[in-house]
Amino acid sequence: EDITVATLGSHTSLHILNGAKQEGFRTAVVCEKGREVPYQRFRVADEFIIVDKFSDIVNDDVQDKLRSMNSIIVPHGSFVAYAGLDHIENDFYVPMFGNRDILRWESERDLERKLMKEAGIRIPLKYTDPEEIDRPVMVKFPGARGGRGYFVASSTGEFNDKIDSMIERGWITEDDVDDAHIEEYVSGTNFCIHYFYSIMNDEVELMGMDSRFESNIDGLVRIPARDQLEINLDPSYVITGNHPVAMRESLLPQAFDMGDRMVEAASKIVPPGMNGPFCLQTMCTDNLEIVTFEMSARTDGGTNTFMHGSTYSYLLHGEGMSMGRRVAREIKVASETDRLPEIIT
Ligand code: ATP
Repeated sequence: EDITVATLGSHTSLHILNGAKQEGFRTAVVCEKGREVPYQRFRVADEFIIVDKFSDIVNDDVQDKLRSMNSIIVPHGSFVAYAGLDHIENDFYVPMFGNRDILRWESERDLERKLMKEAGIRIPLKYTDPEEIDRPVMVKFPGARGGRGYFVASSTGEFNDKIDSMIERGWITEDDVDDAHIEEYVSGTNFCIHYFYSIMNDEVELMGMDSRFESNIDGLVRIPARDQLEINLDPSYVITGNHPVAMRESLLPQAFDMGDRMVEAASKIVPPGMNGPFCLQTMCTDNLEIVTFEMSARTDGGTNTFMHGSTYSYLLHGEGMSMGRRVAREIKVASETDRLPEIIT
């Protein structure tokens, strides 16, 4: 029977669905009631499975419907968040594009660091004890997704003062302090590098690059330093959008090397590895060193900057190659050559 490409209606689903249609697939979107407008108005979905809440995607009736359409699910950030890793690993029976076992590795900071270390790419130094702080550090809390409550400090004293004031304001508790993740603050410019590892071609493709709009930090830095001190605003790093960027050409060998290394490390540690889209979120320093502070092992939100193709995807594929379309192309090639089992889990 014909394959349906399906995903949850959020995050990067527009180009996942649009790309699948371009490659000739039927598409289905699982959508929370009231959120269906973009998928209707942009006409990317052939089938709508409307649910009360996104997390219902793991319900038996929804899974049955998806399976009856011979669906392949393409995961993305919101899919992972709403379906939940435990369900994805244990009782989500719809075939999934890529490696479902690697999704936990991008979600848990220690596993993520382990994978990046194995790859031998440059990551921020990690401090296990606030007493060791000897340079600017960024302090992150597990609960504070989206970077609310993250702060920068440059000494143990400053760390303690800021922690005290956060406890006072009820943002964190004493118990949270032990869970604080302290890492080197990398001062540089942001590049989020989007790769696609094709099992069919055994090749890592550089598909695109974006940089982030983050609120309120982007607004905060538009205020002169003197006024920043006076208004006493607390910085947050909530992603509000993405813009496409091109990297200095002499940095590209580093970018390719990092992608190749991640694919090699992942295939050793979490077989079948990093098949499909992945992203390295980096800062490039003034020594032209690219430091990766975060990775995703599925389509990252920044791929929305190139639904019509990017500067880089143009070089390899010509016009109009989005990440979603690249995924669909891989499914098409695998299906035509009887190699589907290699690209789904
Ligand atoms: P996400 O939603 O991307 O998972 P998150 O809450 O896990 O976000 P991070 O991506 O780790 O947060 O960090 C949020 C932002 O903080 C980054 O986009 C970047 O601007 C900044 N940042 C994070 N780590 C560092 C670092 N080591 N040095 C400098 N800036 C950093």
